[in-house]
Amino acid sequence: MKKLITILVIFACFSCKNETKSNGKLNVVTTTTMITDLVENIGGEFVNVQGLMGSGVDPHLYKASEGDVTKLVEANVIFYNGLHLEGKLVEVFEKMGSATKTPIALGEELDKNTLIGSDYFASNYDPHVWFDIEYFKQFAKKVTQVLSEKNPENTDNFKANEAKYLAQLDELQKNIKATIETLPKEKRILVTAHDAFNYFGKAYNFEVVGLQGISTATEAGVQDVQQLSAFIIEKQIKAIFVESSVPKRTIEALQASVKSKGHEVEIGGTLYSDALGSTGTLEGSYIGMFEYNVNTIVNALK
Ligand SMILES: [Zn+2]
Repeated sequence: MKKLITILVIFACFSCKNETKSNGKLNVVTTTTMITDLVENIGGEFVNVQGLMGSGVDPHLYKASEGDVTKLVEANVIFYNGLHLEGKLVEVFEKMGSATKTPIALGEELDKNTLIGSDYFASNYDPHVWFDIEYFKQFAKKVTQVLSEKNPENTDNFKANEAKYLAQLDELQKNIKATIETLPKEKRILVTAHDAFNYFGKAYNFEVVGLQGISTATEAGVQDVQQLSAFIIEKQIKAIFVESSVPKRTIEALQASVKSKGHEVEIGGTLYSDALGSTGTLEGSYIGMFEYNVNTIVNALK
């Protein structure tokens, strides 16, 4: 009987064009660390997940290596953020598109009418959607749906993982709201290196100001620094923030500019914006990253 099943599996795999790889697991390739973490949570032990971008990697500037292209070609499923977050990968994805393996842009599945508009991106939308937990929950649902379609025998497992993860995200939402409630409304001004936090600001009533514009592909100019330092002084903002995937120098220049006008502003810490922390650390998971960011922001601005 076992032999028969093995033969059937071999035949099935010939006919389904490599749909499942070794051990019957789907090979899933992801781009950002947030999406990698999400797919690992939903897919669990039933999929092989390979993330292209590591901790501290800036997705706006990331270019595919030869090794990446091989991984993409061998993948059964590809998930990426889309909305032109991965600006330099779009071309690679477009070339690869085929009926059996269309890369799935999770951000493109969201209701566009609810997204924040942006002139910086060809998509016309701000792509940093994972900073709204409700959107990330929608990502989770889409991932579950796609994995179940590609690997129906594990549907129950994917659904169980989804339920568990969605409950954790609800818990996260509750905890974050409670932490942010401790920060008075007039102190909710978030100044960072680039505009990654607009969805965060919308969800939790923060005014968000990014020095570098919405993509790191455009450098901040001297005028931007001057204007923003005047704003910091006027609003008596206590702290500004470095981002893990953006060079520190832009925020340090801003701090120096405030100082040159006879005022002080602290660097409140490093926030994780477009990439999670190292694997195995608290900030290496989406949930841990979110808690860490909120605690850092609230403690520094209080
Ligand atoms: Zn960004």
